[in-house]
Amino acid sequence: MLYKALGNSGVKVSAISFGAMRWPSEEAAWRIVNRGLDLGLNYLDTSTGYVGGNSEKWSAAAVRGRRGEIYFSDKGNWDLAPTADAVRAAIDKSLKAAGLEYLDFYQLWGLHRQETLKAALAKGGFVEGVRQARKEGLVRHGLGFTFHGEHELFRQAVDSGEFCCATVSYNLMNRQAEEDIQYAAAKGVGVIIMNPLAGGLLGLAGDKAVDFLCQGHSGPWYGALRFLLANAGITASIVGFTAEAEVDQAVSALEGSQSLGDDYRAGLVDQIDRARFVEGNFCTGCGYCKDCPQGFIPSAFMKAMRDFTVYGVRAEDLRHWILSQFPHQDIYADLARCCECGQCQDKCPQHLAIVESIRKGKDALGIK
Ligand code: SF4
Ligand code: SF4
Repeated sequence: MLYKALGNSGVKVSAISFGAMRWPSEEAAWRIVNRGLDLGLNYLDTSTGYVGGNSEKWSAAAVRGRRGEIYFSDKGNWDLAPTADAVRAAIDKSLKAAGLEYLDFYQLWGLHRQETLKAALAKGGFVEGVRQARKEGLVRHGLGFTFHGEHELFRQAVDSGEFCCATVSYNLMNRQAEEDIQYAAAKGVGVIIMNPLAGGLLGLAGDKAVDFLCQGHSGPWYGALRFLLANAGITASIVGFTAEAEVDQAVSALEGSQSLGDDYRAGLVDQIDRARFVEGNFCTGCGYCKDCPQGFIPSAFMKAMRDFTVYGVRAEDLRHWILSQFPHQDIYADLARCCECGQCQDKCPQHLAIVESIRKGKDALGIK
């Protein structure tokens, strides 16, 4: 296993770690976690809401008797615990639910708004509550944040000096967080990658765009994880394992990975982009469609519709797909605002049928 320092926490974590959000059952969680511990995985990311509320409990049960071999990272939702007292109570509740005596890391969950960061850092806020829990030995190693926002907000969070690590969504298919990763790394903040396999999409059988990632191995995870391992700014990737064999498969990506670098990453990016955009016109995210009279900028929606097509998601899953792409946006209200005037479409250099896509989205969400 390869271990890297997680920011200034004083702790080294495994480059491939556990994302505890997809456990199929308690028994499977036990087998997956114990196989991972045997292979040297030592960081586990959980949350109160994962796996129908069972993730903390099942993950903790899996490490019973081996607690010293794992760093347990949990999360608090600022919307539910906006004050120091509330977050302190949330930590107690999580410990009780899991049957643990302490956590190793705690994360400010889903940071995506300026106001949240400001309030979390203010006197009597979230950060103060976690500091208190650290003094009491309930969170042993540090505070981090998980992120879904704009670059400027990311920089502010890093520059606050309160966080030892940031967890960001990044993978070969979606590389928007590249700038954030480099910024955090330059400032000595650890970077944990969530969605390293694009939410499982990189594992879809028969996806022509990722065949080459297998490189003679059993699945496309091999190339997808090596792409992340080659990035010096990344500390660890949390993989949402669903079966024991996947742990071995993921660990195989470490083979000789320390000699991989920017050239390797650039080669993969080049290949995946050529494979993805080989047929038809796709949204390039150019933003020329931004001046909508109704205040709805369709580019993010069009990118989500592009990925829906490219990844071959089943037509009946369109509603689920749209909702999963906009976890922090009222996409119902935004799509409903579109009056289908077509002004954005006229400006699109890719000549995309934006209005038709929006109609498709409205139909899937039942918007009249
Ligand atoms: S069709 Fe008109 S209202 Fe709808 S997103 Fe485009 S510009 Fe906005
Ligand atoms: S103008 Fe077209 S290609 Fe550019 S962001 Fe909008 S939908 Fe995408």
